[in-house]
Amino acid sequence: MTVKSFIPPHRTLMGPGPSDVSERVLHALARPTIGHLDPAFVGMMDEMKGLLQYAFQTKNELTMPVSAPGSAGMETCFMNLLEPGDKAIVCQNGVFGGRMKENVERCGATAVMVEDEWGRVVDPNKVEAALKANPDAKLLAFVHAETSTGAQSDAKTLVELAHKHDCLTIVDAVTSLAGSPLKVDEWNIDAIYSGTQKCLSAPPGLSPVSFSERAAEVIKNRKTKVNSWFLDLNLVMGYWGGGAKRAYHHTAPVNNLYGLHESLVMLQEEGIENAWARHQKNHLALRAGLEAMGINFVVAEKDRLPQLNAVSIPEGADDATVRTRLLKDFDLEIGAGLGALAGKVWRIGLMGSSSSMKNIELCLSALDTVLTDMGAKINAGVAVDAAKAAS
Ligand SMILES: *Cc1c(COP(=O)(O)O)cnc(C)c1O
Repeated sequence: MTVKSFIPPHRTLMGPGPSDVSERVLHALARPTIGHLDPAFVGMMDEMKGLLQYAFQTKNELTMPVSAPGSAGMETCFMNLLEPGDKAIVCQNGVFGGRMKENVERCGATAVMVEDEWGRVVDPNKVEAALKANPDAKLLAFVHAETSTGAQSDAKTLVELAHKHDCLTIVDAVTSLAGSPLKVDEWNIDAIYSGTQKCLSAPPGLSPVSFSERAAEVIKNRKTKVNSWFLDLNLVMGYWGGGAKRAYHHTAPVNNLYGLHESLVMLQEEGIENAWARHQKNHLALRAGLEAMGINFVVAEKDRLPQLNAVSIPEGADDATVRTRLLKDFDLEIGAGLGALAGKVWRIGLMGSSSSMKNIELCLSALDTVLTDMGAKINAGVAVDAAKAAS
């Protein structure tokens, strides 16, 4: 059998990521591959640093894309800041806090868990109690935007509490970066990681990270070697931070970096505040449509993440059947529930390029058709007009 070229279908991506990648970014990915030590490439990477500093709203020198997806950014933060025997306070209110715990333990450190119900935000009172009870903790880690539930925690307050108790902070901003207000310097975040396939709308495979001076000092002064050769920032810094004297560490994913560069140029053109505002505005339009249909949100209104809308599956609708029909008949992907919320919710993403009125209208009319056919309990034929009226 001769295998032919793979031609993917054209989908509209309204799940938890990846999000729609624009034509501009797709074209950037197809530009000629050059050497990763080529002066032209080094120049592009210097621009990348400035563009990422803008996206994160920081002047941190140590700001760069890790050459692997968001999970590798997570691991970079934990592996570099923690040493065996350290203690970390980890907040969990969904899937990703659980992964943080795994990371802490794999560093040979101990995780003190602060748990909140799925769909709720991280409770600052519980965090303060944990900080008081554990004066020897080295850092506090939490997820800013919990993609598994659609809840957005108060990063500024949590970082303030950590610093009051002399703790460093690790913030998961995989889904928040470029979608929700996030100010690394103003909020004094020490270590932060993100992903490219959520609100930046570049393909998956890279993880922008940024470390404060204070965090960089902690990494330079470690007593033990980082337990990962690939993610050891002391080595990686010689590559991304070396300028013209760049030393070979690994081969950067050249074309994928063109894609991220282009998406960051687009973010700069739009303006980060405008990008935040667009995500919020489109969230309100989608909300109006869904609520008119009789579909309810999982998260309390004030805690909702505009780029990830978790809603209860209406009575009479079969989860898998609906998602399969949306994909087959409408080329539309929405997200299933994860973990404790599996089978109970849908996660509708409005991330980056996917956050548009065109996508909202497609999603609402497709859901209307599929749910009506199935005899689910919804108000038919009203959602799109309600969304338009709210936009
Ligand atoms: C998607 C996501 C990750 C993991 O990123 P990958 O690119 O899939 O490795 C981590 N944290 C959050 C909050 C996410 O949404």
